[in-house]
Amino acid sequence: MIGAGPGGIAAGVKLKKAGITDFAILERADEVGGSWHENHYPGLEVDIPSLAYQYSFARNPNWSRLFAPGAEVKRYHVEVARRFGLYPHLHFGTEVVSEEWDEDNHRWKLHLADGGTITARFVISAVGAFIKPKEDPGIPGLAEYRGKIQRPSDWDDEYDLAGKKVAIIGTGASSVQITPSIAPRVGSLSVFQRTPVWCVPKPNPRIPRAAQLILHTPGLQAATHGAVLVAVDLLLRVMSNAPMALVRPTMRTVDAVAIAGYQGLLRTMVRDKATRAGLTPNYGPIAKRPTANTGYLLAFNRDNVELVTTPIERFTETGIRTVDGTNHEFDMIVLATGYHVFSDPETYTPGMVVGEDGLDLGKFYAEHGLQAYESVSLPSLPNRWTLVGPYSWTGSGWHAFVEMTADHAVRAIAEARRRGATFVAVRRDAQESYHRTIYAHSEAMRFYLAELNAHVPTYYRNSQGDSTYIRPTGFFRARRGHRRFPFSDYRFELLRPRPAVEADTTPDAVADEAASGPLPVGAAAPAKPRAARTKSASGAKSATAAKTSAAAKATAGAKTPAGAKSAAGRKSGTAAKSTAAEPKPRRRTGSNGDA
Ligand SMILES: Cc1cc2nc3c(=O)[nH]c(=O)nc-3n(C[C@H](O)[C@H](O)[C@H](O)COP(=O)(O)OP(=O)(O)OC[C@H]3O[C@@H](n4cnc5c(N)ncnc54)[C@H](O)[C@@H]3O)c2cc1C
Repeated sequence: MIGAGPGGIAAGVKLKKAGITDFAILERADEVGGSWHENHYPGLEVDIPSLAYQYSFARNPNWSRLFAPGAEVKRYHVEVARRFGLYPHLHFGTEVVSEEWDEDNHRWKLHLADGGTITARFVISAVGAFIKPKEDPGIPGLAEYRGKIQRPSDWDDEYDLAGKKVAIIGTGASSVQITPSIAPRVGSLSVFQRTPVWCVPKPNPRIPRAAQLILHTPGLQAATHGAVLVAVDLLLRVMSNAPMALVRPTMRTVDAVAIAGYQGLLRTMVRDKATRAGLTPNYGPIAKRPTANTGYLLAFNRDNVELVTTPIERFTETGIRTVDGTNHEFDMIVLATGYHVFSDPETYTPGMVVGEDGLDLGKFYAEHGLQAYESVSLPSLPNRWTLVGPYSWTGSGWHAFVEMTADHAVRAIAEARRRGATFVAVRRDAQESYHRTIYAHSEAMRFYLAELNAHVPTYYRNSQGDSTYIRPTGFFRARRGHRRFPFSDYRFELLRPRPAVEADTTPDAVADEAASGPLPVGAAAPAKPRAARTKSASGAKSATAAKTSAAAKATAGAKTPAGAKSAAGRKSGTAAKSTAAEPKPRRRTGSNGDA
């Protein structure tokens, strides 16, 4: 598994619940929690109710607030990972830089930032939606600026804000939280806005002890969340199934009414008329990620906060120059300029994921548009599932949706193991037919985002004009699809076993061997038991007796960064075990000790 955010944790727990314990979770950071570990900027909290932002298998009745603070959300994830025994599987500081399918061995080779390689039978990519913050804000001269740069995802808590002249560029979800929380502390705060954000008030009361006790009632939280999901489901279904002749005028009307309503809200919250005008969106409320924060609009009533709508020309040594020639000087500039997101083809750089027959995911998406069977798998990427893939978000809380994509991956892996298969890939016709349906159902979203609101920059619409963020089927249909997809939509095969050989004990004995193609499962006899071994980069060996079936055991392979021991083996002893259960590789895969 790659990634230990909410999605990776969900998949880890689901694997364990399915009785699969030989897996490794590779995480580039030094703790679990994903976005909630990475981000600790002032004002961070969830913007959907905490009760909807949690796992169905670990409901927390003790949330301190209706919308929990970021640190509490992170603690929750650490606690879940601990409670379900994921720490022995975790390998922190392990960044996967590229994934390469090894056809000869029916395995993935995961190349690491430290130069090492891990091999794995199956890969679950849980790298999230907000893959990495945009380093380049798209404004010239950043290197010239001599003051302090802050980024929401890399906030320097030690930096003293008191009395400082501060700028924040961007008005997305992070900016909406940072602005009101730092405004009382700084000398001045200038908010540089390209597009006004929809921001509705969000009362955030403490949850009293009595209410927490009530939340302990079995089934109560599930029922409440379920009711919300029904509403979300209905909305998405109506939107994706209604005739376009009805959808178009309805959407226009809803947008116009919503904008008028928002102007009314602004009149009650923001005193200055010009600022109100600047804060008024000229696009519909769901064309861009809407936000919720009571303090954001109110912050513009403070004497030390200004809204700057004049476009930025460049950074200077001392601050920012706007296109009207004004030089603004700042001690600190916050770059709240967004992320590379999963729904953009550009996020998948060529060479990052290379599958069967050299299929390059980056090039494929650039040429054919984003697509995946049930948002998780592609025919040429066998043994691999993505938790947050094209057309995946179900409009629900994040956990509900990554739980269902994790269910899909685990179900396919469990079935492969049950059949003794070493190869499982979605059938091309199943994937293409699924994509045709999803694409057709996205017509309303495409109209809304690419026509009605085409003038708004938004990650809900990608550079290809597609709205690949949202799954236009409704929540329950999506869940059914993931939990009950027909196995006939997948191909299960077994790596053809080699004739049994004597165990060889010389260091270089894993010689090149003749390649042979896979067999459909059922046609092959299981590999004969034999001895096998792993070799680490340091040359250490470990011999283990093989179990019976060729595919019976392997999920994670051996990690061998330069000079290191097998990572999976180091923590859980699984690498040697899984390798031993595999058919002997037909070709040695590298000098760094790939098993
Ligand atoms: C600041 C912020 C606030 C958010 N607030 C909300 C909210 O209030 N409500 C809501 O519904 N959603 C919110 N989201 C969106 C979403 O719920 C979170 O991003 C959530 O954490 C996603 O979980 P994930 O596991 O899918 O991805 P992530 O949390 O992003 O976790 C991915 C993990 O994979 C690791 N990783 C990535 N690439 C590699 C690699 N190549 N090798 C090894 N490890 C890798 C990362 O380090 C990370 O730990 C927010 C997102 C952000 C960024």
